[in-house]
Parts: sequence; C-alpha cells; structure tokens
Amino acid sequence: MLDLEKRNITYLPGVGPKRAEVLSKEMNIVSYEDLLYYFPYKYIDRSRYYAIREIREEMPYIQLKGQIVSFDYLGEGRSRRLIAIFSDGTGTIDLVWFQGHKYITDKLKTHTEYIVFGKPTLFGSRYNIAHPDIDSVSHAEQVAGGLTPYYNTTEKMKRSFLNSRAIQNLQYTLLQTIQGQLPETLPDYIISRVGLTGINQALQNIHFPQSAEKLRQAQLRLKFEELFYIQLNMLRTARIRQQKFKGIPFRKVGKYFNTFYKEHLPFELTNAQKRVVKEIRTDMGNGRQMNRLLQGDVGSGKTLVALLTMLLAVDNNCQACMMAPTEILATQHYATISQLLKGMDIQVGLLTGSTRKKERNRILPAVESGEIQILIGTHALIEETVNFHQLGLAIIDEQHRFGVEQRSKLWTKGEVVPHVLVMTATPIPRTLAMTLYGDLDVSVIDELPPGRKPIMTLHRYDNKKALLYNFLRKEISLGRQVYVVYPLIEGSEKTDYKNLEEGFELFKQVFPEYKVCMVHGRMKAAEKDAEMQKFIRGEAQILMATTVIEVGVNVPNASVMVIESAERFGLSQLHQLRGRVGRGADQSYCILISGYKLSNETRKRLEIMVSSNNGFEIAEADLRLRGHGDLEGTQQSGQAIDLKIANLATDGQILQLARDLATEILTIDPDLSSLPHQQLRLRLQQLFARKITWGMIS
Ligand code: ADP
Ligand code: MG
Repeated sequence: MLDLEKRNITYLPGVGPKRAEVLSKEMNIVSYEDLLYYFPYKYIDRSRYYAIREIREEMPYIQLKGQIVSFDYLGEGRSRRLIAIFSDGTGTIDLVWFQGHKYITDKLKTHTEYIVFGKPTLFGSRYNIAHPDIDSVSHAEQVAGGLTPYYNTTEKMKRSFLNSRAIQNLQYTLLQTIQGQLPETLPDYIISRVGLTGINQALQNIHFPQSAEKLRQAQLRLKFEELFYIQLNMLRTARIRQQKFKGIPFRKVGKYFNTFYKEHLPFELTNAQKRVVKEIRTDMGNGRQMNRLLQGDVGSGKTLVALLTMLLAVDNNCQACMMAPTEILATQHYATISQLLKGMDIQVGLLTGSTRKKERNRILPAVESGEIQILIGTHALIEETVNFHQLGLAIIDEQHRFGVEQRSKLWTKGEVVPHVLVMTATPIPRTLAMTLYGDLDVSVIDELPPGRKPIMTLHRYDNKKALLYNFLRKEISLGRQVYVVYPLIEGSEKTDYKNLEEGFELFKQVFPEYKVCMVHGRMKAAEKDAEMQKFIRGEAQILMATTVIEVGVNVPNASVMVIESAERFGLSQLHQLRGRVGRGADQSYCILISGYKLSNETRKRLEIMVSSNNGFEIAEADLRLRGHGDLEGTQQSGQAIDLKIANLATDGQILQLARDLATEILTIDPDLSSLPHQQLRLRLQQLFARKITWGMIS
C-alpha cells in the first residue's frame, strides 16, 4: 500500500530537510499526502503565446517563447540586478531579477528555448518582466491543457525557492511516484451514483489539468470528498454521543411553565417562538440529550424562549443555567428574567466575575443544594467551585464567543449530562451552520415580534457631521436615546480608545444640554455598569461605546445607532450593532459613518447594510464577499474549518448531497462495519484522528 500520510515529505526528491522544515512550518505540509492535498488556488490559461512585438503596457500576465541572448549586471548594492535580454525573433525584452542571481545563472542557459511568463511593464522605452516564471519547453508540455496551476506561497517559502512553480514541480515528482496507484477512498456505489471521477484521475487533474472540463470534474470529486468526510464525521459523532448520553427526560409541563405562560407572559408569543418552544420541548422530552442551536435574528425574542425552556427544566425538578459572554449581558438577562418572574416562587441567581465574595458565599451553597433553580452568569458559571445539585439544562447565549472546549466543560458539570441549548443572533448561512454545527439540531426563529418598524439605515461620509448632529438633536428632543459606537480592533486599541475618548469630549461640547455617557472595555466592571445603568434608566441620552454593547443590550427607547468608522466593521458585526435599536415602537435609524475613500468590497458591505435588514441575507452576502475563513463566528466558534477546496459560498448543493449520503450510509451501517464501508471508516480515523472532538469527552 502507498501509505502517503506516513511518508515524510523530506524524502521526496527535490525537498530535503531544509525545505521540509519550511513546508511544515509555513503550510503544515509534513507528509506526501499533505502535499498532494495542497491544491492550487487558481489556474491561468497559458495556451496562448504572445509575440514580443505585440506587447502593450496594459497587458496582464503574458507568455512568450524564445531564447536568452545575454546576461548582464546593472547597478550597485541594493539596486544591483541581473538582466537577461530575451528574444523571440519579433523583438527583445528585459528579464530582471533583484535577488537569487546565482540560482538563475546556474539554471538558465543562453540560446536555449524557454517559455517566459509574467507581467510586462514599461521602463523608460523598454519593456521588462521582473522575476518571471521560466520553463524549459519540455516542462511546459506537462501542462498539456494550457491551464497552469498557481499555489499559495509565503515569503519564507519563496526564500527557500519554494515558489508556486517549485511546488508544481514537487507535485509532478509526487504524481510520478504514485503512478496512479492510490487506493480509492470512496465506495464504488457512491462514485457511480454521484458520477464522480476516480481519486487518481482527480488528483492528477487538479494539479495538471488536461482540459477545463477535466479540471471541473476533479474539483467536483475533491470538493465532494472533503465535505462528505466532514459530514460523516460530524453525524457519526452526534450518533455516538446520543447513544452514550441519555439526558434527563423532561416529561412534565408543570406549574412553573404553566403559571408563567398563563399569568406572566407580557405578550403573545410569535408563531415562530411557539414553534421553537415546541421543538425544544419535544427534544428534551424524548430521553435523549438535547444539543440544539437556536438561531434568531437580533430582537427576535430568544430570551423569552430561553426562559420558557428553563421553566420546563425547573418543572422537572432540575436546575437550569444560562451563560452569557459579557457581564453587562449576564446582568441584563438576570434583570429581565427576574422582572418577568416577579411574583412567582422561584429562585434566580446571578454569578459573574465581579460577584462579591459575600454574595458568592451565599450563592454557591444555594446552587449546590438546589435552592437556586436558575443561575445566570458569565464564564464564572464553569469555574470549579460551581457545583449544581442537578443541572438539567445549560443555555449558552451568543455561542460564537464560546469555544467548543467551554461548551463541553459546561456539559460535564453535572453527574448527568444536561441538555444544551446554544443561542446565536449571528445568523449563519446554512452551509456554514451545517459545517460548523452539523452535529447540533437547529431551530430558527424567523419572525420578529409584531409592530416593529424596519430600521432605516443610511450611509454618510464623516465630513457631514453638522447634519448628523442636527438629526440627533431632533431625535433626542422627541425623547429618544442614541448609541454612538466606535470600532475596537486588535492591534489598534490605542488609537481606537483615543478616538472614542476624543469623540466623547466632542459630543459633550456639541450637546451641552444633554447627558452623554461612555462605556468601554478598559473600565472597571462597576464603573461600566454605572454608566450603562444611566443609559438604561434614561438619565443619559447618548451612550458612546466600543463594541461592548454589541450583543444583547436591550434599551427599547434607543432609536438611533451611529456607527463611527463603519468601514472597519464586518457585516455581521454591523448587523448586530444595528439590532440594538428598533426595539420600541418608534421609527429607528442606523447611521453608518465612513471616510470617503473606500475599497470596492467595503462599499459593497455598506450598500448591503443599507439595502437589507435581514440577518440571513446579510450573512450570505458576507460569505460571498469574504469566504468562510474570515466570517465572524467561524474563528470564535473554536472549531476551525480548514477547507482545502470546497467553498461554502458556492458549493451548497455539493454539501447537501454529501450530507444526505452520509446520513443514508449511517442509517444503513451506523458503525461503518460492512465491507464496502471499511475504507470509509479507516479514512475517517485517519482524517480526524488528530482533531477528533467526540462531543464532550474531555
Ligand atoms: P434577542 O433575540 O435579540 O435576544 P430579545 O429576547 O432581547 O431578543 O427580545 C427583544 C425584544 O422583543 C425584548 O424587548 C422583548 O421583550 C421583546 N419581545 C420578545 N418576544 C416578543 C413577542 N412575542 N411580542 C412582543 N415583543 C416581544
Ligand atoms: Mg439576546
């Protein structure tokens, strides 16, 4: 067998220990297999040769065929460069190198036919190509279809002469070694049902496409394979977890739920809320442990659903806890929930990092004895010192800020594994949700409470501040409140805080008749809370903040959200921030302030915000604009999705097919023990051995 994953890349001809180290450090390429699955990020059609005579300055990358007439050195010191005069019979052009001179003069000979590829630029009256790709004519024949692959490389790689071209050469050597003898990793019946190319064909064509059509087939095969194994792994993990953990069956809908529902509910639930509560209730009642993701746009009323769910736990003699990502949020949840439960005989506790020792000493034993039935808090909830009497349900609000690690820690808290409900207001495109949270069941609140007026979003340049102030003054005079948010971005905190503080001083001057308050992450919790409370109680009309208010804060009277330097925020973050307003009956506004100079992508981002209020639409657009790697929610989810070839923005259909087939296979053969599935099981182990999570086993 060709155990490619066990063969160290060092021993591939052309690599050696030094380059192997670079490959491993820079690209995580350690084995033959890693290299083989290191795919080009683009292909350039090189089927056409240009004549030097035809060259014009505006041309992009071009390809020439000819000979080097002579070499020469020009300049001194840092500007010393090697110049080759290249001729194809129709004219001459200069090839220029600023580094690596020895390598070039060793490798290239005069009066030998070469193929040169690069971007021509006009220098004085002559065209030149700096650091061109140069191939011997025989090498060029490897690229029969004319589609040349391009591989991502880093500066460090290039310094070890591992540019895209060198990677291509290594792939060539590797494929020669393999000789089309790789064992197929997918069962034959899947291959024929989906109509996929075999693995050897696919790998050959992904690196050296024979034609555009063959490349397309290779891509389909490899994308399918990639997504299929992720789904198979995820679904299998979920099944194992379900067998292993029973979860407490919440069979009863009892006095707490019913009393609250009949006597305390401040408004009729929306249909979406009703449906979701029902889904959760069914899931928690069937004896299996629930692992559910609750998605709902900002303001869709997730808190109420969470509360109803917690009451079900309490009705079944269990405790429930709810974990929020920030103290402000935890405190606000505590206040909201205590208010809603007023008059009911139920004990609710709050535990955060700044809970005083005395209070802590009161709460912890009460949690341990079961006297406190609902505990709300931050990360403090998962500290060693917190012991529940019988935790039946854990709710995690705004999940993307907690890693899987923390999620599992919560789960293992009790003797019996609690049901887990993860709530997120960052709508996640379906494909991303399937990949990131494919092991969770999903409920969606796709409806806002009635009577909300859509928020009006405007984009304004920052040189029109006077108009903005007038507008804000008008709104405040109508009794409304205003948020002004500044970006806070890692790496530029110092200037970011300065901008906020200067903005704060300015606003105090511009609005002497009103009270302006400020919160940011560098303040002490108590101070932050005091400022926040001024705004919540309506004593302050303007709240200036960094993104600490991003999630969850609920002040229905606030009707204007001003976002400074909006160009520096991501789409979903902008959408989150906007969701802080539009919670009351008044017309609300979101004003995006930006500089005048914007990149195309940024301009598009702001346009999307202006034109859409729908979180899912925005998330999809974000995925298309930036790819999944940069999406908020991806990085913080703690689950890196490292896709080598599939693209979640465009490969939704392939993903769905992969998931359907994985489900089908596991239904027929849950352990993957039948003969046609044995290689699946092996491959699964091999692919996920290192990063397997198996749910909550910690
Ligand atoms: P989110 O989903 O963003 O957490 P919240 O739970 O904070 O949203 O709810 C937003 C606002 O909508 C709150 O003021 C809440 O009281 C209100 N709300 C929730 N459900 C309903 C409903 N069914 N009818 C009217 N208002 C509701
Ligand atoms: Mg919320």
